[in-house]
Amino acid sequence: MSQTSISWTNCVWNPITGCSPASVGCRNCYASRLAGRLALMGQAVKYGGLTNKINGKIVWTGDVRLSADTLLTPLSWRKPKLIFVNSMSDWAHERVPKAWRDQILAVAALAPQHVFQALTKRAGIARDYLNDPNTPGRVEAEMRNIATRQGMETPTLVWPLPNWWSGVSVENQEAADERLPIVGKTCAAIRFASVEPMLGPVQLGKNADCLEWLICGGESGPGARPFAVEWADALVKECQQQGLAVFVKQLGKRPTFNGADLVILNESGRRDGHGGEPGAWPAELQHLNMREFPSGVAQQQKGAADGR
Ligand code: SF4
Repeated sequence: MSQTSISWTNCVWNPITGCSPASVGCRNCYASRLAGRLALMGQAVKYGGLTNKINGKIVWTGDVRLSADTLLTPLSWRKPKLIFVNSMSDWAHERVPKAWRDQILAVAALAPQHVFQALTKRAGIARDYLNDPNTPGRVEAEMRNIATRQGMETPTLVWPLPNWWSGVSVENQEAADERLPIVGKTCAAIRFASVEPMLGPVQLGKNADCLEWLICGGESGPGARPFAVEWADALVKECQQQGLAVFVKQLGKRPTFNGADLVILNESGRRDGHGGEPGAWPAELQHLNMREFPSGVAQQQKGAADGR
């Protein structure tokens, strides 16, 4: 299993690797840095040539790649899991052919024990793909291909896939105004938004009606930008008023509170670069310790995520 420290999922699955920045939220892309390192650490087949070093910074080249070795991995996981799809890419990237998406959704359809959490900043491409009336037929054909090769039975395709969650990443109000109405019109069993890195206040407004889940958090890693805890406070309140499940993932590397830097220490007494341990948050911020999931998530899956 591909372990992850991301607290709202159980594991990551990366059948596609490679990406390119879509908006200001991508400025400090963690995935490009990790891809550059992995390419040098023996994973050249999957990550080699997908990044360049420019002015000392590792950046995506814009190429994308399908990993045939990784594609079928979830079929071998018997225990139900929450699976973050393509943490090292964007499944709706412009260069990803429809046929690759068809194969990915076919695997999800053949593994109904799991929940597949797919995030994108390319909300329009994800909507057009999932709403296309020809997509279910192509996914069903891929299901049959894979099932035949694997000696599996082909279940009847249910559309939208009950275990495919379609989400958008938004970093500020501008991105929210652009992408949330689009995800709201996307054919998916569960629609959600991740406001991370949260770079400013975000109001959901009417868009909350179309969402089942909201994640928020501050930025971590080199170059992390400030995160005013008050932004999360207001967003959490709005979610609660709207009855929307909310998951506050982390306060990030540079949280501020009441206009001053907020220092969060880790277990070793050092400054925490993620702020992802609610137990380390000050008492006056404990009301932000909200780690909810959409209703219907199996306890086994939720428990695994909660237990990090
Ligand atoms: S969409 Fe995600 S993976 Fe792609 S550049 Fe932006 S942050 Fe990185």
